[in-house]
Amino acid sequence: MSTASDLRRIRPTWADIDVGAFRRNVEAVSSRLPAGSRLIAVLKADAYGHGAAELARHCSPDHVAMIATSLLEEAQQLRRTGITLPLLVLGPLGEAQVREAVESGIVIGVPGPEELEIVARMARERDVEVHLKLDSGMGRMGSTEADLPRLIELVRSASRLRVGAIYTHFANAGDPHDPFTGEQSARFDGMVQSLREAGVGAPLHHRANSGATMRGLVKAGELVRVGLALFGAEAVDSAVTRLEPVMRWRTEIARLKELPSGHAVGYGMAFRTTRPSRIATLPVGYADGYDRQLSNKAEVLIRGRRVRVVGRVSMDLVTVDVTDLPDAAAGDEVVLLGSQQHGTITPEELAVKIGTISYEVFCSVSARVPRVYRDGEGAVIRSRFT
Ligand SMILES: *Cc1c(COP(=O)(O)O)cnc(C)c1O
Repeated sequence: MSTASDLRRIRPTWADIDVGAFRRNVEAVSSRLPAGSRLIAVLKADAYGHGAAELARHCSPDHVAMIATSLLEEAQQLRRTGITLPLLVLGPLGEAQVREAVESGIVIGVPGPEELEIVARMARERDVEVHLKLDSGMGRMGSTEADLPRLIELVRSASRLRVGAIYTHFANAGDPHDPFTGEQSARFDGMVQSLREAGVGAPLHHRANSGATMRGLVKAGELVRVGLALFGAEAVDSAVTRLEPVMRWRTEIARLKELPSGHAVGYGMAFRTTRPSRIATLPVGYADGYDRQLSNKAEVLIRGRRVRVVGRVSMDLVTVDVTDLPDAAAGDEVVLLGSQQHGTITPEELAVKIGTISYEVFCSVSARVPRVYRDGEGAVIRSRFT
């Protein structure tokens, strides 16, 4: 960690992370929840590339009941940085990791009877807290209807096992017209009922991800597991549910070049000028997570205007056509993702161009790109080089 004055010493390519926007998004999601419901902030994969350690500190216990990660390592890192909120690891975890999680007081999401068997064995000797995951139709993680008898038997055999919550995950909640989420919900309720009748209950339940939460499909008193919405991406397709964008990925024009009509640009001569052109070179490339499939496709913002990426995206360089922007100069700020003046490049815009989803656009911004955490006047840099 270093402070903003060090920005002058590094390549001018970095991702600004608006900590205030994240805090306001947490509050905004929280304010949409029914009475008694609270958030599990999903900060897996380094908070979808935004920085889990930095953002976890801004998860107020007034709104956030727990923080969830996928990996045990991610949860342990949050503990090491002093996060005291309860931590849930969604897993899956192997036996050694289950043991480690229990020893560090990290709650384990149990995705099936095999994993529960490991946990139950440990819970004969010591206290273990788990959240039991049920598969209500996604076909991936979670115990199925057919697994329930085994689940019940295992929970009964482990006197010191505490089932803190029972949960499920939706396959299609981001589609505003989807009927499957309702079916999954009903199936989950049925499975929870069967467990309860067999004496396996839990004080808490959770099912909704960002999509379901933003669609209002939250049961009073239940927790929700929200990731994407907290970063200001669209959690529901083609609906206006976007909160404040948190990440703004920027660089600067490194150099400018005048080319005659008919001149090739970059590897594979994938672009050829059709007029006398001004081509700006940007110090960013696919090694930074600017996808090579954006070659000849993406647009960036300079002086608030959109200009096109021309030619192939290289490992460390991108070329853009600024012929129509005669004032463009070396050192001008270039926005790859986020807003500049009245223009905005959304993660969805980039995602559509490369056939993926906003989640992957965020996660792709590589560790080579420093994250600059801005909160009011202050700025703190996290870079792998300092
Ligand atoms: C990633 C994840 C979430 C969060 O999903 P978003 O769509 O980002 O809100 C919730 N639950 C589980 C099990 C997940 O893996």
